[in-house]
Amino acid sequence: MPSAPFHPGAQGTPGGYAGQQAPGGSFAHGGAPVPGVPMEFTACRFCGSVPAVNTTFRGHRGLLVLMQFLSTEGPFCRDCGLGVFRHMTTRTLVQGWYGYASMIITPVTVVINLIRRGKVARLTPPQPHPYLPSRQPMDPGPRLAQRPMTWIGVGIPVALVILIIAIASSGS
Ligand SMILES: [Zn+2]
Repeated sequence: MPSAPFHPGAQGTPGGYAGQQAPGGSFAHGGAPVPGVPMEFTACRFCGSVPAVNTTFRGHRGLLVLMQFLSTEGPFCRDCGLGVFRHMTTRTLVQGWYGYASMIITPVTVVINLIRRGKVARLTPPQPHPYLPSRQPMDPGPRLAQRPMTWIGVGIPVALVILIIAIASSGS
């Protein structure tokens, strides 16, 4: 492997994601330390881009007495991190509410994700990794406020509370 210094954008193609058409598409390094690669180049576990930060986004699903705790660990680049944050958070808002404990766990999960979102949102735009193969980052998709599922999810606990009050008052 030639030891040419890394020049961002010097590979001739805008963005320079040379790994996009790599045969086999293997990007198995997954952010694990690789011998000879400086630690400041923590790579995104999904696309291999830099910079990336270590954080974990959580999800919750309430199923009356059962519940399911979901999590996706980094490191994430900015775009993949926002994509995972948005996916996990909308899913939690829609699927999280159905159970007594879940009524508490769901908002806590959403707040934790919102706090951790800042870590990935503050990163600079993802760049190809200087030493390892990387591909185009995930499309983070529309913002939470622009997803109908977010608003359906936020409306569910309100509807549940109204339903419980209606049932309780009709029985008295
Ligand atoms: Zn990424």
